[in-house]
Amino acid sequence: MGLLSQGSPLSWEETKRHADHVRRHGILQFLHIYHAVKDRHKDVLKWGDEVEYMLVSFDHENKKVRLVLSGEKVLETLQEKGERTNPNHPTLWRPEYGSYMIEGTPGQPYGGTMSEFNTVEANMRKRRKEATSVLEENQAVCTITSFPRLGCPGFTLPEFKPNPVEGGASKSLFFPDEAINKHPRFSTLTRNIRHRRGEKVVINVPIFKDRNTPSPFIETFPEDDEASRASKPEHIYMDAMGFGMGNCCLQVTFQACSISEARYLYDQLATICPIVMALSAASPFYRGYVSDIDCRWGVISASVDDRTREERGLEPLKNNNYRISKSRYDSIDSYLSKCGEKYNDIDLTIDKEIYEQLLQEGIDHLLAQHVAHLFIRDPLTLFEEKIHLDDANESDHFENIQSTNWQTMRFKPPPPNSDIGWRVEFRPMEVQLTDFENSAYVVFVVLLTRVILSYKLDFLIPLSKVDENMKVAQKRDAVLQGMFYFRKDICKGGNAVVDGCGKAQNSTELAAEEYTLMSIDTIINGKEGVFPGLIPILNSYLENMEVDVDTRCSILNYLKLIKKRASGELMTVARWMREFIANHPDYKQDSVITDGMNYSLILKCNQIANELCECPELLGSAFRKVKYSGSKTDSSN
Ligand code: GLU
Ligand code: MG
Repeated sequence: MGLLSQGSPLSWEETKRHADHVRRHGILQFLHIYHAVKDRHKDVLKWGDEVEYMLVSFDHENKKVRLVLSGEKVLETLQEKGERTNPNHPTLWRPEYGSYMIEGTPGQPYGGTMSEFNTVEANMRKRRKEATSVLEENQAVCTITSFPRLGCPGFTLPEFKPNPVEGGASKSLFFPDEAINKHPRFSTLTRNIRHRRGEKVVINVPIFKDRNTPSPFIETFPEDDEASRASKPEHIYMDAMGFGMGNCCLQVTFQACSISEARYLYDQLATICPIVMALSAASPFYRGYVSDIDCRWGVISASVDDRTREERGLEPLKNNNYRISKSRYDSIDSYLSKCGEKYNDIDLTIDKEIYEQLLQEGIDHLLAQHVAHLFIRDPLTLFEEKIHLDDANESDHFENIQSTNWQTMRFKPPPPNSDIGWRVEFRPMEVQLTDFENSAYVVFVVLLTRVILSYKLDFLIPLSKVDENMKVAQKRDAVLQGMFYFRKDICKGGNAVVDGCGKAQNSTELAAEEYTLMSIDTIINGKEGVFPGLIPILNSYLENMEVDVDTRCSILNYLKLIKKRASGELMTVARWMREFIANHPDYKQDSVITDGMNYSLILKCNQIANELCECPELLGSAFRKVKYSGSKTDSSN
């Protein structure tokens, strides 16, 4: 989830005192990197995925499933057996926010050849197997985005009571601090976000109103003033960072060949974020209730919203410098490529001094405002031993701010003195139940980048429309019901090259004709006379590529999954989970998910993930990968 420093974490008051220092040196560190590598060219495509996992324990006798708080120990074992024993080990393991979470990535990045697409799923399977092998009896690693009973009494093993009194990190009524990863970064983030904000975080998710759901649905918290004020009728109320950052996702990072290619990809993919998020929807349940949303995004956004009342516009500015319109975890606020400039229609709050400084250092307006926008935020954690750094050779202060701007896309400068190039990270996707699905989404996104670059596609629309799409994307069944702004003619730019722009078009009126509302089915599968469809474009790209038979077969299977999820022929994980609960014999149509129902659901998810049962509604049946028994038939790569 970001930079992990060792040492003694400072309190919010102390961190705040060093905020300007961190920003000042963070910018100097960025400038050192920029000047050293701005002209780097010809880096090759490399990419990698990140999968986040939850550790669960089944109690078959009492029909309960709980989150096991052994992430730190499991991680230690996995790293010891893996990367520390063999630097070429095929998997890498990292901590995540929850002490019931771990994160796994491939040991080495994937390269640019087509045949690499055929190794993604095998690597994910290896990760699942490896992690499973170090667990205790009746435990499993699950790739579920949100644990349905997160924050319900007794949801952890061992069990801990929440600690709502002063002194705790979250002060949550529901989420015990013991469920936060023990690395000091995580509890310090939690505490400092709360202190900076001046109160607990507030998450209100609309409840799904079923036949017997109380109407109005109102929860009362007489013992807690903050909760009574913050909780809204008809909503599921949550009050801790863990409800958001304790969710899992699927991310992909690409190395571009140059800074301008990275900026171009950053922009193009930003428009794709809401679409793929809706397609990957997998988180309909919160705190033991059925909600009316399908994606985690807004929940995490609220869970780390450190803005003060002044910054949120609830009080006149007195102690703070800016009104800030979004949480640190949110969609991007500006495009970075020249082509994107005319579509930058969101008010951008920037640190003016930093902006001027960057311009003076020769950085262009778009990149300068991007960095100056990230740097309106305060550092949230700081370690006493890490205050004074060597700005020419370290980048911790830059990374401190950068890595706590959790946006849909992240533009990543190379680390100092490394042979890593300019990268972009695609962050909106929800994690899927199986390695097959996760591979499908990852391969889809990576192929899309190839097609964007090869065919010089242009998906840009005004950024405010992308934001509207983000809102629609999280709603229940957005994949089938939602309408999304999308560019009509994605080849129109014609010469929309990486370094310049296709058409000289300035007027926003012209821009308005460039996009229209489309369903996800239209965007993904195309519609005669309206839009060609991303999958048909990918298919035609594939036809022109030399790909060995086995790899082609895998890729086509992945694309079929995406295609069928978009058309509704297959369900999203969120829809499938909803149906599972709706059809559960214990379910009382009251939007409540009991321990027993949660147990059946997670057990089923685990069986599907480990291929102990089929799930044609979710995965189809015809196109599961047929294992080649023979040797490679074609090695044209
Ligand atoms: N778990 C977070 C999410 O679901 C992401 C944390 C990270 O940046 O690694 O988006
Ligand atoms: Mg992560």
